[in-house]
Amino acid sequence: MSARELSGLTATETARLVRTGEASAVEVARATIEAIEAREDAVHAFIQITPEMALQAAERVDADRAAGRELGALAGVPIGFKDNMHLVGTRTTCGSRMLEDYESVFTATCVQRMLDAGCVPMGKLNMDEFAFGSSTESSYFGPTRNPRDLGRVPGGSSGGSAAAVAAGMLPLTLGSDTGGSIRQPASFCGVVGLKPTYGMVSRYGVVAFGSSLDQVGPLARSVDDVALAMNALAGRDPRDCTSQAWDRDFMAGLHDGVEGMRIGVVDGMTHAEGVDPEVMASLDAAAQELVARGATLVDVELPHAKAAISAYYVLAPCEAFSNLARFDGVRYGHQCADARDLSDMTSRSRAEGFGPEVKRRIMLGAYLLSSGVYDRYYYPAQQVRALITDDYRRAFRQVDAILMPASPRCAFRFGELSDPTQMYLSDMFTISLNIAGNAGVSVPVAPGRDSGMPIGAQLIGPAFADDRLLRVAAALQDAYGPASVADVRAEKGGELS
Ligand code: GLN
Repeated sequence: MSARELSGLTATETARLVRTGEASAVEVARATIEAIEAREDAVHAFIQITPEMALQAAERVDADRAAGRELGALAGVPIGFKDNMHLVGTRTTCGSRMLEDYESVFTATCVQRMLDAGCVPMGKLNMDEFAFGSSTESSYFGPTRNPRDLGRVPGGSSGGSAAAVAAGMLPLTLGSDTGGSIRQPASFCGVVGLKPTYGMVSRYGVVAFGSSLDQVGPLARSVDDVALAMNALAGRDPRDCTSQAWDRDFMAGLHDGVEGMRIGVVDGMTHAEGVDPEVMASLDAAAQELVARGATLVDVELPHAKAAISAYYVLAPCEAFSNLARFDGVRYGHQCADARDLSDMTSRSRAEGFGPEVKRRIMLGAYLLSSGVYDRYYYPAQQVRALITDDYRRAFRQVDAILMPASPRCAFRFGELSDPTQMYLSDMFTISLNIAGNAGVSVPVAPGRDSGMPIGAQLIGPAFADDRLLRVAAALQDAYGPASVADVRAEKGGELS
């Protein structure tokens, strides 16, 4: 097989070729390095590429195979990690100047589990600074471009994770999702991205943003690859007390279809003001595909979901404010030069190390948690959280999954959403899920009829039924096919504004 063919394979296909010996892991790794080198200048999905580490891991896979040792389910599959996940031997920057030179001193459980399954680590992926954002424009290392149209953003905050998969640089990546950061970039880049139920995947070793909302999940070009990755990722980790045991096989029954399933639609949301008509059209068509495969559509209501963004922008900044207090230039992070005293050092190190969006969130969190203000915002936001969680619980008594867009519009152009509130509103379909803790997956459906850009259908499932949710996602994939590899050519990109 040619290098080009090898690098364009899905994770499932790559694992099969390596297992049968039709390709060696080293051949796959070399082909992947070539593919990254050819496209990285145009896309800029990576913060760090790790070819040596990759070749060493690939050699180990080949040696294991030669010695007749059992191979992991993902043996030889190239993978990249969002740069908020620790991996010894790499820097973990969170897309920030604050951690520009920070060397990981331990490896995150999610990363370790993928390596234990045989994955070959190709590098660390670009992201919005500290995962605050929806476009990857706030990365200190410069934005990632959308491989389907280099003049547009890839979404965020896991923009590098989605773009690397769409560009055919990697078959599989990990992202993290606090308010939509896996599903929205997956939708913008036309790949599959799963935010698992809160507690499915260990958060140990993932730099915290909002600890009650953060969840790690896989991005890939097929639902099968996402299921394969979840088999490795899911389960209890004694180092994260919120993680839960899991022993079901994500691949079992994945293609059993949706015959007899009840799929919820929330009319007031999909056809709401602010939702692009092309998104509505693609989603309506996706709903009909599920009906054609034997599912029934049921109207459901999520009466409090409209308050999700307001609650999130109270809860998430409060959690971020306390999580980011550790970056003081002493324990962690950038330290300013010539400090006069401790207070001068802390404030100048933070002023220099953090970008504007990070500062905005920290100040917002500090204000919201201050005495007198707390009762007016934080406490009511927690009450709204309970109401939204209850909405979902009630809805899932009637339906197996809920269908809605991942984003109200397709990928926007660089600089188009310069007003932060407009950027926040673009998460209107993803945030309520993090608040409730449920699982959600974005699957590419019919491209936008006006823009020609990918549109993601989001499927939402009850807590800890992520395997069943992927079954619905697989039915949509059967209708539309797995995601293609984008044709990336640098000359197609416009200037970044
Ligand atoms: N866009 C949302 C925010 O900026 C979500 C980010 C995320 O999920 N990490 O907070």
